[in-house]
Amino acid sequence: MKIETMKDLFICELADIYHAEKQIVKALPKMVEKAHDPRLKEAFQSHLHETENQVTRVEEVFRVLDMKAETEKCDALQGLIKEAEELMKHVKDDAVMDAALIAAAQKVEHYEIASYGTLVALAELLGYVEAAEILRETLDEEQGADTKLNEIALGKVNVQALHGAATSTGAGKLFQ
Ligand code: ZN
Ligand code: FE
Ligand code: FE
Ligand code: FE
Repeated sequence: MKIETMKDLFICELADIYHAEKQIVKALPKMVEKAHDPRLKEAFQSHLHETENQVTRVEEVFRVLDMKAETEKCDALQGLIKEAEELMKHVKDDAVMDAALIAAAQKVEHYEIASYGTLVALAELLGYVEAAEILRETLDEEQGADTKLNEIALGKVNVQALHGAATSTGAGKLFQ
C-alpha cells in the first residue's frame, strides 16, 4: 500500500485493524475454552461478540467513505497471538493460566486502544465525522474490555494463582 497523504495513512491503519480484528475473532474462542474463572470466561465470550461487531464497524467505516473494505496484514497482532498460544501451551496450573490469559489479552487490548486512538484522531483531522463516531464506539469498547480484565486480575485471579501455585510447589505452607 502506497502512503503519501494522511488519508492514505488513515486507510492503511484502518486496513491493518480490519485484519487484526479478524484474527482476534479467530483467536478468542480458544481463550474462552482455556479460561477457568467463570467471570473471565464470560468476559472473553462477551468480548468475542463485541469483536465480531467491531469487524462489521470497520466495514461500515469503509462504506461511509465510499471505499471497498480491504485488509493489510497486521504482523503485530499475529505476533501477540503467537505469544498467547505459546503461553497456553506451557502454563500447567489452572489459576496461573487465567492470569496468563489476562496478560496476553491485555496486550491485545492495548494494541487496539493505540490503533483506534490513532484512527479516531486521523478521522477527526480529515473531517470524517461519521467515521470518527463509529471508531470511537469501538475505542470505548476496547477500553471497557481492558478495564474489566484489570478488575478480574486484581480482584481475584492473581491472588488465587499466587496461592495455588505456591501450594503446588510445596512453598505454600504459609497459606495452609
Ligand atoms: Zn499497514
Ligand atoms: Fe477489537
Ligand atoms: Fe498492525
Ligand atoms: Fe478488543
